[in-house]
Amino acid sequence: MHLISMLLFSTLLLAPLAALQAADVKRPNILFIMADDHAAHAISAYGSRVNQTPNIDRLAKEGMRFDRVFAVNSICTPSRASILTGKYSHINGVPVFNRFDGSQPTVAKYLQAAGYYTGMFGKWHLESDPTGFDRWTILPGQGDYFNPAFLEASGRRVINGYVTDIITDLSIEFLKNRPQDKPFFLMCHHKAPHRNWQPDEKHKAMFADKIIPEPDTLRDDYATRSAAIHQSTQKVLANLSPNDTKGPPPVGLSGDALLKWKYQRYMQDYLACVQSVDDNVGRLLDYLTESGLAANTIVIYTSDQGFFLGDHGLYDKRFMYEESIRMPFLVRWPGVIQPGSSQSAMGINVDFAPTFMQAAGLPVPADMQGRSLVPLFQGERPADWRSSWYYRYYHDPGDHNTRAHYGVRTETHKLIYFWKIDQWEMYDLVKDPAELHNIHGDPAEAGTFAKLKAELYRLKKELKDDDQFAYEEPGSKPSTAKPKPAK
Ligand code: CA
Repeated sequence: MHLISMLLFSTLLLAPLAALQAADVKRPNILFIMADDHAAHAISAYGSRVNQTPNIDRLAKEGMRFDRVFAVNSICTPSRASILTGKYSHINGVPVFNRFDGSQPTVAKYLQAAGYYTGMFGKWHLESDPTGFDRWTILPGQGDYFNPAFLEASGRRVINGYVTDIITDLSIEFLKNRPQDKPFFLMCHHKAPHRNWQPDEKHKAMFADKIIPEPDTLRDDYATRSAAIHQSTQKVLANLSPNDTKGPPPVGLSGDALLKWKYQRYMQDYLACVQSVDDNVGRLLDYLTESGLAANTIVIYTSDQGFFLGDHGLYDKRFMYEESIRMPFLVRWPGVIQPGSSQSAMGINVDFAPTFMQAAGLPVPADMQGRSLVPLFQGERPADWRSSWYYRYYHDPGDHNTRAHYGVRTETHKLIYFWKIDQWEMYDLVKDPAELHNIHGDPAEAGTFAKLKAELYRLKKELKDDDQFAYEEPGSKPSTAKPKPAK
């Protein structure tokens, strides 16, 4: 082989390697920070009336605020399964608190196979051990706020301290000890501010004497609504227990005075837990800056669903009302996302996995049911972007006696069907953003109902929801019984 051929040969050999290395340098790291039950309306970047979150707000200032991102099944475990798989509950097999089948494909597995170094720290809540992660340290089940036990591949260990600080410590340790020649995918999942809202002393003191403004719908009387909200046991007044309020109410308190007292106790502790999450988001962002990682790292802050902060007199989630289904979603990606921008296109949690795939330069698997948000990051709104999406909640009676339902949300309307009690609710989100006036049954809205109902069943069919889990209860096998067709 003469010299020219040798040079040519070695160039050919080296070229793909060099291209790969260049691609590797370019591939962004992904830091996904998710809280548990943190409503967007308890983040100041979303116009909170009840608190200030300066660190989470940094992501809005330096990135994009999504105003309409939703959970397709507003409860912890199903949302986590949907985020990992990019699929609805009836496809990934987690409609309620079912054990996640870790042998199925997940975005973590795809990224790991493509050369990402993957880590999962904090609340997992999918019963089976994590798969697709190089390193993981998770809370068993819901986990504890103080001196929590953790599970790892090597076994169980207790770490002393406050859970939100510890999960951040573990995440930073993962970053410090990562291999330098790989991009990383890190899921940092906080337990806070999940019920029963146990803040650490420092943050508890910040809210102990604070009077939190009440939401406009705290005294919602549910006139015009279906039986479901009347029956639900997630009411601030009737259902918050001494365990939630950290002691019994003052003797003699009743009626509206008791409602006010319970709301304050609930929100003081909830917001104190949020404040610790905010501080810890700041610590992680500071670490990215100090370590030089910030420029090539996508950072997302979200929550597994929204939460009622006394809205409609409630304190949990589950219902397809806005406060419950809306997830905060803030994303920073230097050089790609314009700082201080916002996005009103509707995203759903099954979009997250496709988003990570595209961000990593990977094809989105055809069986994922969501759609990558990356074009929206770039300020584009594809002409065929969704104008409606499908919701389904199964956990009935569940912990809060909340009737199962499915529904459709469009840019302007929402239609909900409570299939076990055969009742409908319909809202005009433009005229009635607080969802106080159920217009189902209004003859003037018959045309709107027909259109929404057709769209609901079109989506249900398209998503292959064949009612395979319609009567699912925790721990049960999928039922073969089919619900009666809706009237
Ligand atoms: Ca949750």
